Amino acid sequence: MSIKENLNRIKEKLGKSTKLVAISKTRSVEEIIECYNAGHKIFGENKVQELADKYEALPKDIEWHLVGHLQTNKVKYIAPFVQLIHSVDSLKLLQEINKQGIKFGRVIPCLLQMYIAQEETKFGLSEEEAITILNNKDFQELKNVSVEGIMGMATNTENIEQIRIEFNSLKLFSDKLKASFSSPLHSFLEISMGMSSDYKIAIEEGSTLIRVGSSIFGVRGL
Ligand SMILES: *Cc1c(COP(=O)(O)O)cnc(C)c1O
Repeated sequence: MSIKENLNRIKEKLGKSTKLVAISKTRSVEEIIECYNAGHKIFGENKVQELADKYEALPKDIEWHLVGHLQTNKVKYIAPFVQLIHSVDSLKLLQEINKQGIKFGRVIPCLLQMYIAQEETKFGLSEEEAITILNNKDFQELKNVSVEGIMGMATNTENIEQIRIEFNSLKLFSDKLKASFSSPLHSFLEISMGMSSDYKIAIEEGSTLIRVGSSIFGVRGL
């Protein structure tokens, strides 16, 4: 199947409240252009350097998201253009993003990455850690970073019920944050969950942003 056919097959399943972020990590500029020419404008990368290079090389009406781990010393490379950082996991990182937001005269939208999987290898905050950050006065003084919601990755398992439970816990936590912390600056509207293997479950459980790579572009090489 072509990139365009894959894209259309996924888009049919989206519904009104879910958007697709095409994860283009390791893909060539030509492959991304093929997806762009099929009408898709939202792309995500997991590495800062690759994101910055592709931003330079590709049309400027593309909306670029960062979905991978971000080190504070690299925020400056994406701060001028990034449309959403899915992977914020500390107050220190929020402070650096805010600093770069001031420098470039913009408010930089972010998601807090939550730890929901039963795996040791995934990054992310516990619910308690997220709440501690949001209650911190130092966070509340930041004006050039906005928290638009949360992101999570389910356990890499065939057990559909477990995946569903993990996504549901993210949805419940999202509702809780929205009720307690939303403000004109921080919407808490977005829930980034669902990848190629589990995006259908994620949509059913209330995802607003699915992050899909291999189901669009084919299996990644090693
Ligand atoms: C690679 C990646 C994805 C997409 O994975 P696929 O299985 O190719 O759909 C989604 N989210 C993050 C954070 C990723 O690194």
